[in-house]
Amino acid sequence: MDAAAEFPTAALTELRRQGLLGLLAPRHHGGLGGTLDDMLEVTVALGRVDLSVAMIFAMHSQQVAAIVAHAAQPFGDDLLAQLGDEGLYLASVTTEAGKGGHLLSAESQLGDDGDSVVLDRFAPIVTGGAHADGFLVSVRSPRAQSEHEVSLVYAHRDQLDIVVSGAWNPLGMRASHSVALQLTGRIPAGQVIGAHGGFRRIAVTCFAPLAHLGWAAAWLGAAAGAMSRVVSLLRAPAERGRLNLESELLLARLSRARQRLETVHALTRHTAAAVSGAMDGGADLSRPRYQLLINSLKITASEECYRVIEDLIDVVGLKHGYLKDSPTGLERSLRDLRSAALNFSNDRLHLADGRLALLDPEVGFV
Ligand SMILES: Cc1cc2nc3c(=O)[nH]c(=O)nc-3n(C[C@H](O)[C@H](O)[C@H](O)COP(=O)(O)OP(=O)(O)OC[C@H]3O[C@@H](n4cnc5c(N)ncnc54)[C@H](O)[C@@H]3O)c2cc1C
Repeated sequence: MDAAAEFPTAALTELRRQGLLGLLAPRHHGGLGGTLDDMLEVTVALGRVDLSVAMIFAMHSQQVAAIVAHAAQPFGDDLLAQLGDEGLYLASVTTEAGKGGHLLSAESQLGDDGDSVVLDRFAPIVTGGAHADGFLVSVRSPRAQSEHEVSLVYAHRDQLDIVVSGAWNPLGMRASHSVALQLTGRIPAGQVIGAHGGFRRIAVTCFAPLAHLGWAAAWLGAAAGAMSRVVSLLRAPAERGRLNLESELLLARLSRARQRLETVHALTRHTAAAVSGAMDGGADLSRPRYQLLINSLKITASEECYRVIEDLIDVVGLKHGYLKDSPTGLERSLRDLRSAALNFSNDRLHLADGRLALLDPEVGFV
């Protein structure tokens, strides 16, 4: 899939067959009734083998969590039943030409004719967009006064005209098949998730926490899988003597890579516990201390997991660090993980965190 930049259809079929697309859907809707920790476990496990598949799963699960928490009834129950029974695969549409990765604004506007809303939205990058059964789309609310009044709307594939534009030929994350789409259609008004203009609340209390946790777990899995393959190679009898396992340089590099993984793992676990605790206990996730933690996780995981691969390339050198056909897969991991800092720009998060830091003069932690 990486070589051809194709969507991993067989992996999606297997996720569906095992019920994992309904992991976060409640049991009474036919889902697995899983927790946030379950979702992170699965994402790490998938990431160890394939970062694109892990991202596909994590981003789908983030959409499911938003529906569980915010969809209006009876639409929410119907959709969750379909999710649990049929294993619908949901894609995310937030990025937009013109506003780039700015999450909390929207350029194109929903039409509204009472019973239905009218969508006409260009989406420059939609993971699995050509294969998804449904889409959660952020779009400017009908009659919005500013670009910051944003709604989230669910659209089923058969409610839309979908035109895939352009080819997907990136450096890494090639199997995520994150294509550009033009989406147009008329959608029942009950499929607006939350109230009109309510996307900000959904983003801050559900989308962003789940996205940052899911991405961090996927990147952690990718970097841990790479390290596991490298350590297995170093220990393999066939490789003995090729590299000096007593080399202090080699040992220090392995140590640094492992330290980075331990850091990301600990921060992911701590953030997951804080987010789960807040969601269960009704605490306000929009508070600066929570947002700073959630954003720090994304920035730290994206930087440290990428650096793990650079450390490992230096450990094993050219043959197993730079050639495509090495069993370490480091060449692909490096390309894939280079996307981590871009996938919601770390620069944007640092600007947001600077403002949030000014709101917390006590410098408290959750
Ligand atoms: C593999 C992959 C899969 C993706 N899948 C999806 C998906 O399924 N759905 C979806 O909607 N999106 C998806 N995205 C898009 C992603 O969420 C980001 O929106 C996108 O990567 C940002 O693109 P950008 O760097 O061009 O935009 P920007 O965030 O606009 O950044 C462009 C440049 O400008 C700088 N910049 C611009 N404005 C500011 C500012 N105000 N503050 C600080 N810096 C600024 C940035 O640092 C950066 O250098 C995916 C991205 C990747 C890499």
